[in-house]
Amino acid sequence: MKTVPKKFADHARYRRKNSEHIYANAEDYKVCSNCLSVGFQRAPICPICHSYRWYYDTEVVKMIALVTEGTVLPFTAGVAPRLRSE
Ligand SMILES: [Zn+2]
Repeated sequence: MKTVPKKFADHARYRRKNSEHIYANAEDYKVCSNCLSVGFQRAPICPICHSYRWYYDTEVVKMIALVTEGTVLPFTAGVAPRLRSE
């Protein structure tokens, strides 16, 4: 029987919870146009890649939230955080 290691399962739950919050509050977020990280509206630059170009469209934020909801490994970071090291 295949099982998902606990730390990945825990992280998937954590990301799902964050993604649901971001989706429901998309107006509070924006998406980095360079690395697609989700950032807070007040962030001047992307905390991950230091880009200053953003997508402000809430539909883009919602799309990223939906995509990241189902992934464990981060291809985006920022508000939807990377896997925590122990
Ligand atoms: Zn970025």
